[in-house]
Amino acid sequence: MSDEQVISGTIIYGDEPRLIEGYLCVKDGIITEVGSDLAVDATLKGLVAPCFVNAHTHIGDSILKDPPLLDLDSLVRPPHGLKHRILREMPAGDIEEAIGRTLADMVQTGTGVFCDFREGGVQGASMLANALTVSDGLTGMIMGRPQQPERPGRGELDNLVEVCSGIGMSGVNDVPFEVLQEAVNTARMAGKLFGIHGGEKDTSDISRSIELEPDHIVHMTHALDTHLTQLVDADIPVVVCPRSNFVTGVGSPIRPPISRMLEMGVTVAAGTDNVMLNSVNMFSEMEFLSKVYGLEDRQVFKMCTLNGARILGLDERLGSILEKKQAKLMILDDRSSNLSNSKDILSSFVRRGRPDDIQTIIT
Ligand SMILES: [Zn+2]
Repeated sequence: MSDEQVISGTIIYGDEPRLIEGYLCVKDGIITEVGSDLAVDATLKGLVAPCFVNAHTHIGDSILKDPPLLDLDSLVRPPHGLKHRILREMPAGDIEEAIGRTLADMVQTGTGVFCDFREGGVQGASMLANALTVSDGLTGMIMGRPQQPERPGRGELDNLVEVCSGIGMSGVNDVPFEVLQEAVNTARMAGKLFGIHGGEKDTSDISRSIELEPDHIVHMTHALDTHLTQLVDADIPVVVCPRSNFVTGVGSPIRPPISRMLEMGVTVAAGTDNVMLNSVNMFSEMEFLSKVYGLEDRQVFKMCTLNGARILGLDERLGSILEKKQAKLMILDDRSSNLSNSKDILSSFVRRGRPDDIQTIIT
């Protein structure tokens, strides 16, 4: 029995996104055909976009939606930051329920893939993995860390990489360097990813973060040209979280230096960071990137889709609309009150698209 779906309309097609007026076929979860015939018998019509890749989240703190706006260390620095104190106090069942609600929110707002730095050791990672088993077609990359990151238990790193997609550490100022090196080696041996925060508050941890040769560094809010050159030379991509940086007060006036990163050839993806600081709605991140940083619309689009997939090693099958890739798609109403009268629908999608423009999600 065939479960082929045919969707017609305007398609944001390819790794270098361009607009095609035509149709797209999906069978068994794979994009089987894209063409320019507008006379096809389609079951769905609208603007067809790949689902977002949210390249950096902490959804463990979904339990806390409206914290006081404190400085960065008071909010999130382990072990005494507000977030960590609250996570220690809350019952596991409540945390898992809140995580499940955030996963649903991701799907509803068009995200198909996310990468989460998960606290709480193997137990914390397993909780997220459990929540993911009942979420609808969402691909989650879980980057775990030891229960006490500065002092991993015997065999804990090995156990972590068994249940996780990789290891995600808070930063070189929080954890002894030799522990981080051991974490990198453990991830490498298991064929898993290693990611770390760096350059969020100042430049003090950037060089040692690069020295670890991670698969990606999160933030780089304060990166200078010399750091960006090192990143390009070492082929280390960056995940920026601009809304988060503004909330925690490290992003003013226009940091991170995203334009400079792109000019110098750094691969840049985007993430929404802690749920307690920002919603997981990637439309908001796109609009912020576009308007605060003045970036070109297609660059912003790639940062929120393909570049994230690339950083996570998923770009062969996800992150853009191409034949043979997985069909993680959103179909938007390009005649909605918000999107109607657009002259360049890709620019409108980036600058003003909203979750309520979505008609259907295919995962
Ligand atoms: Zn983070």
